[in-house]
Amino acid sequence: MKLKRILIGLEIHIELKTKSKMFCGCSAVHFEKIPNSQTCPVCLGLPGALPVPNFKAIESVILIGQALNCEILKESKFDRKNYFYPDLPKGYQISQYDQPFCLNGWLEYKIQGTNYRAKIRRVHLEEDTGKLVHTQVKGKSCSLIDFNRSGCPLVEIVTEPEFDSSLAAKTFLEKLQKIVRYLEVADADMEKGQMRCEPTVNLEIEDGGKNYFTPLVEIKNINSFRFVQKAIDFEVERQFKDFEEKRIEKMPGNKTTRGWSEKKLETGLQRTKEEASDYRYFPEPDIPPIFWSDKQITNFKELFKKIVLPDKLESRFISLYGLRPEQAEILCRDKETAFYFEKCVELGKIKKITSLDIVNKLINQSKKAKQFADLSPKEFIEKIGESQKLFSLNKEEISLIADRVLKENQKIQDEYRKGKTQVLGFLIGLVQKEAKGKADPRIVQKILAEKLA
Ligand SMILES: [Zn+2]
Repeated sequence: MKLKRILIGLEIHIELKTKSKMFCGCSAVHFEKIPNSQTCPVCLGLPGALPVPNFKAIESVILIGQALNCEILKESKFDRKNYFYPDLPKGYQISQYDQPFCLNGWLEYKIQGTNYRAKIRRVHLEEDTGKLVHTQVKGKSCSLIDFNRSGCPLVEIVTEPEFDSSLAAKTFLEKLQKIVRYLEVADADMEKGQMRCEPTVNLEIEDGGKNYFTPLVEIKNINSFRFVQKAIDFEVERQFKDFEEKRIEKMPGNKTTRGWSEKKLETGLQRTKEEASDYRYFPEPDIPPIFWSDKQITNFKELFKKIVLPDKLESRFISLYGLRPEQAEILCRDKETAFYFEKCVELGKIKKITSLDIVNKLINQSKKAKQFADLSPKEFIEKIGESQKLFSLNKEEISLIADRVLKENQKIQDEYRKGKTQVLGFLIGLVQKEAKGKADPRIVQKILAEKLA
Protein backbone atom coordinates (compact mmCIF):
# COMPACT_ATOMS: atom_id res chain seq x y z
CA MET A 1 0.00 0.00 0.00
CA LYS A 2 1.47 3.31 -1.12
CA LEU A 3 0.47 6.96 -0.68
CA LYS A 4 0.15 8.23 -4.21
CA ARG A 5 -1.11 11.78 -3.73
CA ILE A 6 -2.33 14.17 -1.06
CA LEU A 7 -5.27 16.37 -2.08
CA ILE A 8 -5.81 19.54 -0.06
CA GLY A 9 -8.42 22.19 -0.75
CA LEU A 10 -8.79 25.40 1.22
CA GLU A 11 -11.87 27.28 2.29
CA ILE A 12 -10.86 30.61 3.76
CA HIS A 13 -12.97 33.21 5.53
CA ILE A 14 -11.63 36.73 5.94
CA GLU A 15 -13.32 39.52 7.90
CA LEU A 16 -13.33 42.77 5.97
CA LYS A 17 -12.36 45.88 7.89
CA THR A 18 -15.25 48.09 6.82
CA LYS A 19 -16.59 50.68 9.27
CA SER A 20 -20.12 49.27 9.29
CA LYS A 21 -21.62 45.79 9.01
CA MET A 22 -22.71 44.05 5.80
CA PHE A 23 -26.41 44.91 5.80
CA CYS A 24 -26.90 47.53 8.54
CA GLY A 25 -25.23 50.63 9.99
CA CYS A 26 -23.84 48.99 13.17
CA SER A 27 -20.08 49.21 13.73
CA ALA A 28 -18.20 46.25 12.30
CA VAL A 29 -15.33 46.67 14.75
CA HIS A 30 -16.32 44.01 17.26
CA PHE A 31 -13.05 42.75 18.76
CA GLU A 32 -13.19 42.94 22.59
CA LYS A 33 -16.27 45.21 22.62
CA ILE A 34 -18.97 44.92 25.33
CA PRO A 35 -21.13 41.93 24.26
CA ASN A 36 -24.27 42.82 22.30
CA SER A 37 -23.47 46.55 22.36
CA GLN A 38 -23.33 46.81 18.55
CA THR A 39 -26.60 45.41 17.32
CA CYS A 40 -29.84 46.52 15.67
CA PRO A 41 -33.01 44.81 14.36
CA VAL A 42 -31.22 43.88 11.08
CA CYS A 43 -28.23 42.05 12.57
CA LEU A 44 -30.37 40.57 15.35
CA GLY A 45 -32.63 39.11 12.67
CA LEU A 46 -35.84 40.66 14.01
CA PRO A 47 -38.93 40.17 11.82
CA GLY A 48 -39.51 42.88 9.22
CA ALA A 49 -35.97 44.31 9.32
CA LEU A 50 -34.60 44.94 5.83
CA PRO A 51 -30.96 44.47 4.79
CA VAL A 52 -29.13 47.13 2.73
CA PRO A 53 -25.81 45.92 1.19
CA ASN A 54 -22.59 47.72 2.13
CA PHE A 55 -20.99 48.94 -1.11
CA LYS A 56 -17.53 49.28 0.47
CA ALA A 57 -17.62 45.55 1.33
CA ILE A 58 -18.62 44.64 -2.23
CA GLU A 59 -15.81 46.81 -3.60
CA SER A 60 -13.35 45.08 -1.25
CA VAL A 61 -14.40 41.61 -2.40
CA ILE A 62 -13.97 42.64 -6.02
CA LEU A 63 -10.48 43.95 -5.20
CA ILE A 64 -9.58 40.60 -3.65
CA GLY A 65 -11.05 38.81 -6.67
CA GLN A 66 -8.88 40.86 -9.02
CA ALA A 67 -5.75 40.25 -6.94
CA LEU A 68 -6.56 36.55 -7.30
CA ASN A 69 -6.87 36.92 -11.09
CA CYS A 70 -10.59 36.11 -11.06
CA GLU A 71 -13.24 37.10 -13.51
CA ILE A 72 -15.72 39.70 -12.19
CA LEU A 73 -19.25 38.48 -12.89
CA LYS A 74 -21.45 41.09 -14.59
CA GLU A 75 -24.47 39.65 -12.85
CA SER A 76 -24.41 38.64 -9.21
CA LYS A 77 -26.84 38.03 -6.38
CA PHE A 78 -27.20 37.17 -2.70
CA ASP A 79 -28.81 33.93 -1.53
CA ARG A 80 -30.17 32.57 1.71
CA LYS A 81 -28.32 29.65 3.21
CA ASN A 82 -30.76 28.04 5.61
CA TYR A 83 -29.64 26.25 8.74
CA PHE A 84 -30.32 26.38 12.43
CA TYR A 85 -27.69 27.32 14.96
CA PRO A 86 -27.97 29.57 18.05
CA ASP A 87 -25.46 32.11 16.71
CA LEU A 88 -27.62 32.68 13.61
CA PRO A 89 -30.77 34.51 14.79
CA LYS A 90 -32.53 34.67 11.40
CA GLY A 91 -32.29 30.92 10.82
CA TYR A 92 -30.45 31.65 7.58
CA GLN A 93 -27.25 33.35 6.54
CA ILE A 94 -27.14 35.79 3.63
CA SER A 95 -24.44 34.40 1.38
CA GLN A 96 -23.86 33.82 -2.34
CA TYR A 97 -24.54 30.54 -4.07
CA ASP A 98 -24.40 30.22 -7.86
CA GLN A 99 -23.58 33.82 -8.80
CA PRO A 100 -20.73 35.00 -6.56
CA PHE A 101 -18.96 38.29 -7.28
CA CYS A 102 -15.79 36.61 -8.60
CA LEU A 103 -15.01 33.25 -10.22
CA ASN A 104 -12.13 31.19 -11.64
CA GLY A 105 -8.83 32.72 -10.63
CA TRP A 106 -5.34 31.74 -9.65
CA LEU A 107 -2.52 32.85 -7.39
CA GLU A 108 1.18 32.15 -7.64
CA TYR A 109 3.22 31.37 -4.57
CA LYS A 110 6.83 30.45 -4.13
CA ILE A 111 8.49 27.59 -2.25
CA GLN A 112 12.30 27.63 -2.16
CA GLY A 113 12.56 29.69 -5.31
CA THR A 114 10.09 27.63 -7.35
CA ASN A 115 6.77 29.12 -8.45
CA TYR A 116 3.51 27.22 -8.04
CA ARG A 117 0.07 28.24 -9.15
CA ALA A 118 -3.06 27.60 -7.07
CA LYS A 119 -6.44 27.63 -8.78
CA ILE A 120 -9.17 29.69 -7.14
CA ARG A 121 -12.70 28.42 -7.60
CA ARG A 122 -14.64 31.41 -6.26
CA VAL A 123 -14.62 34.53 -4.10
CA HIS A 124 -17.91 35.52 -2.52
CA LEU A 125 -19.37 37.76 0.14
CA GLU A 126 -21.52 36.77 3.11
CA GLU A 127 -22.40 37.89 6.61
CA ASP A 128 -20.69 36.59 9.72
CA THR A 129 -22.58 34.87 12.53
CA GLY A 130 -22.71 35.78 16.21
CA LYS A 131 -20.28 34.26 18.65
CA LEU A 132 -20.99 31.62 21.27
CA VAL A 133 -19.17 32.09 24.56
CA HIS A 134 -19.04 28.96 26.73
CA THR A 135 -18.80 30.03 30.35
CA GLN A 136 -20.12 29.66 33.89
CA VAL A 137 -22.92 31.74 35.37
CA LYS A 138 -23.66 31.30 39.10
CA GLY A 139 -21.71 28.06 39.06
CA LYS A 140 -23.62 26.59 36.13
CA SER A 141 -22.05 25.88 32.75
CA CYS A 142 -23.82 27.67 29.97
CA SER A 143 -23.39 29.18 26.52
CA LEU A 144 -23.93 32.90 26.00
CA ILE A 145 -24.36 34.59 22.64
CA ASP A 146 -22.66 37.81 21.57
CA PHE A 147 -24.22 39.30 18.43
CA ASN A 148 -21.61 42.03 17.89
CA ARG A 149 -20.03 39.95 15.12
CA SER A 150 -23.42 39.03 13.63
CA GLY A 151 -23.77 40.60 10.18
CA CYS A 152 -20.14 41.66 9.80
CA PRO A 153 -18.89 41.35 6.21
CA LEU A 154 -17.03 38.13 5.52
CA VAL A 155 -15.28 37.06 2.32
CA GLU A 156 -15.11 33.40 1.47
CA ILE A 157 -12.37 32.17 -0.86
CA VAL A 158 -12.49 28.59 -2.13
CA THR A 159 -9.55 26.95 -3.91
CA GLU A 160 -9.48 23.83 -6.05
CA PRO A 161 -8.38 20.80 -3.98
CA GLU A 162 -4.97 20.72 -5.63
CA PHE A 163 -2.38 21.49 -2.96
CA ASP A 164 -0.24 18.40 -2.53
CA SER A 165 1.46 19.22 0.76
CA SER A 166 0.75 21.01 4.02
CA LEU A 167 3.66 23.35 3.25
CA ALA A 168 2.07 24.37 -0.06
CA ALA A 169 -1.23 25.10 1.71
CA LYS A 170 0.49 27.13 4.42
CA THR A 171 2.62 29.09 1.94
CA PHE A 172 -0.45 29.93 -0.13
CA LEU A 173 -2.30 31.17 2.97
CA GLU A 174 0.61 33.39 4.00
CA LYS A 175 0.65 34.91 0.53
CA LEU A 176 -3.10 35.46 0.62
CA GLN A 177 -2.82 37.20 3.99
CA LYS A 178 -0.09 39.46 2.64
CA ILE A 179 -2.24 40.38 -0.37
CA VAL A 180 -5.38 41.32 1.56
CA ARG A 181 -3.21 43.42 3.87
CA TYR A 182 -1.63 45.20 0.88
CA LEU A 183 -5.14 45.82 -0.47
CA GLU A 184 -5.97 47.31 2.95
CA VAL A 185 -9.32 45.54 2.99
CA ALA A 186 -8.60 43.29 6.00
CA ASP A 187 -6.17 42.78 8.88
CA ALA A 188 -6.51 39.00 8.52
CA ASP A 189 -5.00 38.12 11.88
CA MET A 190 -5.51 34.38 12.39
CA GLU A 191 -5.11 34.52 16.17
CA LYS A 192 -7.94 37.07 16.36
CA GLY A 193 -10.17 34.98 14.10
CA GLN A 194 -10.09 37.63 11.36
CA MET A 195 -8.81 34.99 8.98
CA ARG A 196 -10.15 31.45 9.38
CA CYS A 197 -9.13 28.49 7.33
CA GLU A 198 -10.79 25.14 6.90
CA PRO A 199 -8.73 22.72 4.84
CA THR A 200 -10.33 19.67 3.22
CA VAL A 201 -8.02 16.69 3.02
CA ASN A 202 -8.10 13.28 1.41
CA LEU A 203 -5.61 10.87 -0.10
CA GLU A 204 -5.11 8.82 -3.21
CA ILE A 205 -3.69 5.46 -2.23
CA GLU A 206 -2.32 2.79 -4.55
CA ASP A 207 -2.75 -0.83 -3.65
CA GLY A 208 -2.25 -3.87 -5.82
CA GLY A 209 -2.19 -1.80 -9.01
CA LYS A 210 -5.49 -0.06 -8.12
CA ASN A 211 -6.07 3.51 -6.91
CA TYR A 212 -8.38 4.42 -4.04
CA PHE A 213 -9.52 7.73 -2.55
CA THR A 214 -9.99 8.11 1.20
CA PRO A 215 -13.15 9.87 2.54
CA LEU A 216 -13.07 13.67 2.43
CA VAL A 217 -12.43 15.42 5.75
CA GLU A 218 -12.83 19.10 6.57
CA ILE A 219 -10.71 20.38 9.47
CA LYS A 220 -12.03 23.15 11.72
CA ASN A 221 -10.76 25.19 14.72
CA ILE A 222 -7.36 26.10 13.29
CA ASN A 223 -6.09 29.49 14.42
CA SER A 224 -2.53 29.80 13.17
CA PHE A 225 -0.50 29.05 10.04
CA ARG A 226 1.67 26.68 12.05
CA PHE A 227 -1.36 24.64 13.05
CA VAL A 228 -2.69 24.56 9.47
CA GLN A 229 0.43 22.62 8.63
CA LYS A 230 0.34 20.41 11.72
CA ALA A 231 -3.37 19.62 11.38
CA ILE A 232 -3.00 18.61 7.72
CA ASP A 233 0.07 16.47 8.46
CA PHE A 234 -1.79 14.74 11.28
CA GLU A 235 -4.81 14.14 9.07
CA VAL A 236 -2.71 12.66 6.24
CA GLU A 237 -1.18 10.14 8.60
CA ARG A 238 -4.50 9.34 10.27
CA GLN A 239 -6.30 8.78 6.96
CA PHE A 240 -3.57 6.48 5.67
CA LYS A 241 -3.71 4.31 8.82
CA ASP A 242 -7.50 4.40 8.80
CA PHE A 243 -7.60 3.18 5.21
CA GLU A 244 -5.11 0.42 5.94
CA GLU A 245 -7.38 -0.83 8.73
CA LYS A 246 -10.90 -0.23 7.44
CA ARG A 247 -10.51 0.34 3.70
CA ILE A 248 -13.40 2.82 3.59
CA GLU A 249 -13.46 4.78 0.33
CA LYS A 250 -14.69 8.28 -0.54
CA MET A 251 -18.40 8.61 -1.34
CA PRO A 252 -19.62 11.42 -3.59
CA GLY A 253 -21.09 14.30 -1.59
CA ASN A 254 -19.95 12.90 1.74
CA LYS A 255 -17.77 15.05 3.93
CA THR A 256 -16.80 14.57 7.55
CA THR A 257 -15.87 17.44 9.86
CA ARG A 258 -13.04 16.99 12.33
CA GLY A 259 -11.89 19.57 14.88
CA TRP A 260 -8.25 20.37 15.50
CA SER A 261 -7.16 20.28 19.13
CA GLU A 262 -4.18 22.48 19.97
CA LYS A 263 -3.68 20.66 23.26
CA LYS A 264 -3.72 17.12 21.94
CA LEU A 265 -2.23 18.06 18.54
CA GLU A 266 -4.76 15.85 16.78
CA THR A 267 -8.09 16.06 14.95
CA GLY A 268 -11.26 14.63 16.49
CA LEU A 269 -14.54 13.67 14.85
CA GLN A 270 -17.20 16.43 15.03
CA ARG A 271 -19.95 15.51 12.60
CA THR A 272 -20.75 14.10 9.20
CA LYS A 273 -21.58 17.14 7.13
CA GLU A 274 -24.77 17.89 5.26
CA GLU A 275 -24.59 18.23 1.49
CA ALA A 276 -25.03 21.64 -0.16
CA SER A 277 -28.66 20.87 -1.02
CA ASP A 278 -29.47 20.52 2.69
CA TYR A 279 -29.05 24.29 3.06
CA ARG A 280 -32.00 24.87 0.70
CA TYR A 281 -30.31 27.87 -0.93
CA PHE A 282 -32.66 30.33 -2.62
CA PRO A 283 -32.27 33.94 -3.86
CA GLU A 284 -32.46 36.54 -1.07
CA PRO A 285 -35.85 38.19 -1.76
CA ASP A 286 -35.00 41.43 0.11
CA ILE A 287 -31.95 42.30 -2.02
CA PRO A 288 -32.34 42.68 -5.79
CA PRO A 289 -29.73 41.02 -8.06
CA ILE A 290 -26.71 43.17 -8.89
CA PHE A 291 -25.82 44.07 -12.49
CA TRP A 292 -22.57 45.89 -13.17
CA SER A 293 -22.37 48.25 -16.14
CA ASP A 294 -19.22 48.27 -18.30
CA LYS A 295 -18.32 51.59 -16.71
CA GLN A 296 -18.59 50.16 -13.20
CA ILE A 297 -16.39 47.18 -14.17
CA THR A 298 -13.85 49.63 -15.64
CA ASN A 299 -13.94 51.61 -12.38
CA PHE A 300 -13.21 48.45 -10.36
CA LYS A 301 -10.27 47.72 -12.64
CA GLU A 302 -8.95 51.28 -12.38
CA LEU A 303 -9.17 51.16 -8.60
CA PHE A 304 -7.24 47.88 -8.58
CA LYS A 305 -4.50 49.21 -10.87
CA LYS A 306 -3.63 51.89 -8.33
CA ILE A 307 -2.66 49.31 -5.71
CA VAL A 308 0.90 47.99 -5.54
CA LEU A 309 0.98 44.30 -4.68
CA PRO A 310 3.93 42.55 -2.96
CA ASP A 311 5.14 40.66 -6.09
CA LYS A 312 5.43 43.86 -8.09
CA LEU A 313 7.19 45.63 -5.25
CA GLU A 314 9.66 42.76 -4.81
CA SER A 315 10.63 42.82 -8.50
CA ARG A 316 11.02 46.59 -8.30
CA PHE A 317 13.33 46.27 -5.30
CA ILE A 318 15.43 43.66 -7.10
CA SER A 319 15.75 45.49 -10.41
CA LEU A 320 15.91 49.06 -9.16
CA TYR A 321 17.94 48.73 -5.95
CA GLY A 322 19.90 45.56 -6.66
CA LEU A 323 18.51 43.61 -3.70
CA ARG A 324 18.73 39.83 -3.52
CA PRO A 325 15.33 38.11 -3.92
CA GLU A 326 15.32 36.95 -0.30
CA GLN A 327 16.06 40.49 0.92
CA ALA A 328 13.24 41.88 -1.22
CA GLU A 329 10.92 39.20 0.15
CA ILE A 330 11.69 40.11 3.76
CA LEU A 331 11.21 43.84 3.16
CA CYS A 332 7.93 43.33 1.30
CA ARG A 333 6.33 41.11 3.93
CA ASP A 334 4.41 44.19 4.97
CA LYS A 335 3.68 47.38 3.13
CA GLU A 336 4.88 49.65 5.95
CA THR A 337 8.41 48.23 5.97
CA ALA A 338 8.57 48.25 2.17
CA PHE A 339 7.54 51.90 1.92
CA TYR A 340 9.80 52.82 4.84
CA PHE A 341 12.72 51.26 2.94
CA GLU A 342 11.94 53.23 -0.22
CA LYS A 343 11.75 56.47 1.73
CA CYS A 344 15.14 55.72 3.33
CA VAL A 345 16.72 54.98 -0.07
CA GLU A 346 15.45 58.32 -1.33
CA LEU A 347 16.89 60.20 1.66
CA GLY A 348 20.11 58.15 1.66
CA LYS A 349 21.06 59.33 -1.84
CA ILE A 350 22.14 62.75 -0.55
CA LYS A 351 24.37 61.22 2.11
CA LYS A 352 25.78 58.64 -0.28
CA ILE A 353 24.26 55.78 1.71
CA THR A 354 23.45 52.93 -0.64
CA SER A 355 20.28 50.86 -0.75
CA LEU A 356 22.35 47.83 0.26
CA ASP A 357 23.58 49.60 3.42
CA ILE A 358 19.96 50.37 4.23
CA VAL A 359 18.61 46.91 3.55
CA ASN A 360 21.28 45.28 5.72
CA LYS A 361 20.60 47.58 8.64
CA LEU A 362 16.85 47.29 8.21
CA ILE A 363 16.81 43.50 8.11
CA ASN A 364 19.15 43.21 11.08
CA GLN A 365 17.05 45.71 13.01
CA SER A 366 13.74 44.09 12.22
CA LYS A 367 15.10 40.86 13.68
CA LYS A 368 15.64 42.80 16.88
CA ALA A 369 12.08 43.78 17.72
CA LYS A 370 11.66 46.34 14.96
CA GLN A 371 13.56 49.17 16.63
CA PHE A 372 13.46 51.18 13.43
CA ALA A 373 9.73 51.62 13.86
CA ASP A 374 10.50 54.31 16.43
CA LEU A 375 12.77 56.22 14.08
CA SER A 376 11.60 58.31 11.16
CA PRO A 377 13.32 57.43 7.84
CA LYS A 378 15.37 60.63 8.26
CA GLU A 379 16.59 59.65 11.72
CA PHE A 380 17.32 56.14 10.49
CA ILE A 381 19.52 57.44 7.67
CA GLU A 382 21.35 59.73 10.07
CA LYS A 383 22.06 56.79 12.34
CA ILE A 384 23.55 54.80 9.47
CA GLY A 385 25.61 57.86 8.46
CA GLU A 386 27.07 58.11 11.97
CA SER A 387 27.96 54.44 12.17
CA GLN A 388 29.66 54.66 8.79
CA LYS A 389 31.79 57.55 10.02
CA LEU A 390 33.03 55.24 12.75
CA PHE A 391 34.54 53.02 10.09
CA SER A 392 37.25 55.51 9.19
CA LEU A 393 39.70 53.02 7.63
CA ASN A 394 39.70 52.75 3.84
CA LYS A 395 40.16 49.61 1.76
CA GLU A 396 43.93 49.99 1.36
CA GLU A 397 44.45 50.37 5.09
CA ILE A 398 42.26 47.34 5.81
CA SER A 399 44.09 45.37 3.15
CA LEU A 400 47.46 46.05 4.84
CA ILE A 401 46.16 44.89 8.22
CA ALA A 402 44.65 41.79 6.59
CA ASP A 403 48.01 40.92 5.00
CA ARG A 404 49.70 41.20 8.39
CA VAL A 405 47.10 39.04 10.13
CA LEU A 406 47.26 36.36 7.44
CA LYS A 407 51.06 36.25 7.59
CA GLU A 408 50.95 35.68 11.34
CA ASN A 409 48.30 32.96 11.03
CA GLN A 410 49.55 30.68 8.31
CA LYS A 411 48.04 27.60 10.01
CA ILE A 412 44.52 29.01 10.05
CA GLN A 413 44.89 30.01 6.42
CA ASP A 414 45.69 26.39 5.55
CA GLU A 415 42.64 25.17 7.45
CA TYR A 416 40.46 27.57 5.48
CA ARG A 417 41.87 26.36 2.16
CA LYS A 418 41.24 22.76 3.24
CA GLY A 419 37.55 23.66 3.43
CA LYS A 420 37.10 24.74 7.06
CA THR A 421 35.53 28.02 5.95
CA GLN A 422 34.13 28.84 9.39
CA VAL A 423 37.61 30.04 10.46
CA LEU A 424 36.93 33.15 8.37
CA GLY A 425 34.96 34.60 11.27
CA PHE A 426 37.98 34.17 13.52
CA LEU A 427 40.21 35.98 11.02
CA ILE A 428 37.71 38.82 10.69
CA GLY A 429 37.85 39.17 14.45
CA LEU A 430 41.66 39.40 14.41
CA VAL A 431 41.61 42.10 11.73
CA GLN A 432 38.97 44.04 13.65
CA LYS A 433 41.10 43.84 16.79
CA GLU A 434 44.11 45.27 14.95
CA ALA A 435 41.89 47.93 13.33
CA LYS A 436 40.45 48.85 16.74
CA GLY A 437 36.93 48.48 15.34
CA LYS A 438 37.44 51.18 12.73
CA ALA A 439 36.96 48.83 9.76
CA ASP A 440 33.61 48.06 8.20
CA PRO A 441 33.14 44.32 8.92
CA ARG A 442 31.61 43.70 5.49
CA ILE A 443 34.67 45.15 3.76
CA VAL A 444 36.95 43.12 6.03
CA GLN A 445 35.10 39.96 5.10
CA LYS A 446 35.29 40.75 1.38
CA ILE A 447 39.01 41.53 1.45
CA LEU A 448 39.85 38.43 3.49
CA ALA A 449 37.78 36.17 1.24
CA GLU A 450 39.54 37.59 -1.83
CA LYS A 451 43.00 37.10 -0.34
CA LEU A 452 42.21 33.54 0.74
CA ALA A 453 40.71 32.51 -2.58
ZN1 LIG B 1 -27.00 46.05 13.02
